[in-house]
Amino acid sequence: MQLDLLSIAAHPDDTELTCGGTVIKMAQAGYKVGLLDLTAGETGTRGSPELRARESARAARVMGLAHRENLGLPDAALEHRRDYILKIAARIRALRPRTVILPYWEGRHPDHYTAGWIGYEACFLAGLMKAPLEGRPFRPQKIIYASMYVPAAPPTLLVDITRQLEKKLKAVRCYASQFSPRRDVQNLFPSHADLRERVVSLARHFGLMTGVKYAEPFVQREPVTVEDVISLPGKSI
Ligand SMILES: [Zn+2]
Repeated sequence: MQLDLLSIAAHPDDTELTCGGTVIKMAQAGYKVGLLDLTAGETGTRGSPELRARESARAARVMGLAHRENLGLPDAALEHRRDYILKIAARIRALRPRTVILPYWEGRHPDHYTAGWIGYEACFLAGLMKAPLEGRPFRPQKIIYASMYVPAAPPTLLVDITRQLEKKLKAVRCYASQFSPRRDVQNLFPSHADLRERVVSLARHFGLMTGVKYAEPFVQREPVTVEDVISLPGKSI
């Protein structure tokens, strides 16, 4: 397989919530897009792993993905371990994505930032000739970090998802086991209406930064070289 884009995330539904609009937009543009969920979310308060697997397969169809798989690492216990990194690296060699989306390197849930950390090291290891891995060495050309879960992190890239917002909401709604019929105390399991408001208002917040209706935020670590400063995207004032 040769993917154009691979999103690696800790739990099923993380990609949908943080960068689902971007993933949908790239699939609509004709790119081969895949998802690698590291855990099955088995320690989640609501829903069984089987139910969440069915929900994530449904969401994959909504988003138009070419590939989605679950690596089955332990939920709520992701760690920086060499065997986990090698497992992810083996999938990167098999899927050969040109660009990888990783979770931002800070956050509330340790699984999220740990997924970003071990995901990065897996991308590196996959390209090492002498790594103890099957298959040809391969390294993605580009890594960007999805930062929607950390709204205080300043994005360096925003993707206009105005035309993909409804489909993103439809993909998020596939995870019905994660919704509450009522507002709950901690607000970790929002109702349908709360969830919609949360997804839409965050996308609007990032859209306002760049003069579009709805956007998703990303951080790229490296500066980029351009040939033409006249046709740069965006507006400064
Ligand atoms: Zn998560």
